[in-house]
Amino acid sequence: MKKDDIKHIKQLLSEPKSIVVVPHKNPDGDAIGSSLGLYHYLKQFGHKIVIIAPNDYPDFLKWMPAEESVMIYDNQTEASDLIIDQADVIFTLDFNALNRIGNMEAVVTKSRAVKIMIDHHQQPDGYATYTYSDVSMSSTCEMVYNFINMLEDTDHINAEIATCLYTGIMTDTGSFRFPSTTSQTHKVIAALIEKGANNAQIHTNIYDTSSYNQLQLLGCALRNLKVLPEYNTAYITLSQDELNTYNFKKGDTEGFVNYGLSLKGIVFAAIFIESQQDQIIKVSLRSKGDFSVNEFSRAHFEGGGHINAAGGKSDLTMEATVEKFIRILPTYKHVLNL
Ligand code: 5GP
Ligand code: MN
Repeated sequence: MKKDDIKHIKQLLSEPKSIVVVPHKNPDGDAIGSSLGLYHYLKQFGHKIVIIAPNDYPDFLKWMPAEESVMIYDNQTEASDLIIDQADVIFTLDFNALNRIGNMEAVVTKSRAVKIMIDHHQQPDGYATYTYSDVSMSSTCEMVYNFINMLEDTDHINAEIATCLYTGIMTDTGSFRFPSTTSQTHKVIAALIEKGANNAQIHTNIYDTSSYNQLQLLGCALRNLKVLPEYNTAYITLSQDELNTYNFKKGDTEGFVNYGLSLKGIVFAAIFIESQQDQIIKVSLRSKGDFSVNEFSRAHFEGGGHINAAGGKSDLTMEATVEKFIRILPTYKHVLNL
């Protein structure tokens, strides 16, 4: 972000404003953590500030400070429309194209508010007035920390902010193990612990909340895991029937896709999850090394994301989706066999 941009934003926020913070659809730990971190930061300056998430998110995120104040657009559409309409400033966090906010796209596009994007995904769109985009960053939460730092305000980081930002950095880095984790990330994490983030408690809050059904569903997913050794690829399917058997709730399949990558030698893992409600197969993709699942998802599954983590969807049946996936792989054989 340019020095001038920071100067303008400082000026913009020097008087109380009506601010809306928007994370992406199906928000994850980084999306909710960065939104709440920014919320607790801005709240100290007398702004009127509301987080509006496009849709609901998993229970394992519903403990962060002020989480209960987050509005869900799909459940509170009229009230949200009014607030967005009257906003002076809209922060968009952890996404970079307005088609990532589902039913909110029209009202946010139409809004005349100053838009500020903070995001670390590939290929940002140019919709924002101010864009802070950096694909080398571990997480949007790390960027919100940097943003506060650029505003010369780290003194204002309290335990609430630290807790929310720690959470998103932790979830987006696979607990600090993905290559996006830098020494700088660890420095930010150290600063957040010093500001009051309780690291052990946060890990427990996020990762030790499985239900019995969820572990049984994981068992089912692992039984369905298929390996394609020729392409160093593994994939998992979960049908709606299987989800129903284990009383699936939003978030229950979080992290399942990573089990494919835990197999020795596997560099590309996918999970295909049927959603009868949305009439799609939700696709999640992960890779190790240079194989870009962002490019793969953009080319074949109407999605995108990062080089090593991306998502998308398929309008075909599960069987046809898997068939398509297997049919595409030979094209990438050379990159998958490095
Ligand atoms: P997940 O597989 O966990 O849903 O998502 C992995 C990454 O890809 C996340 O950073 C997420 O924001 C991004 N992502 C997931 N689904 C989509 C999608 O449909 N379109 C785009 N552009 N990105 C996605
Ligand atoms: Mn993120």
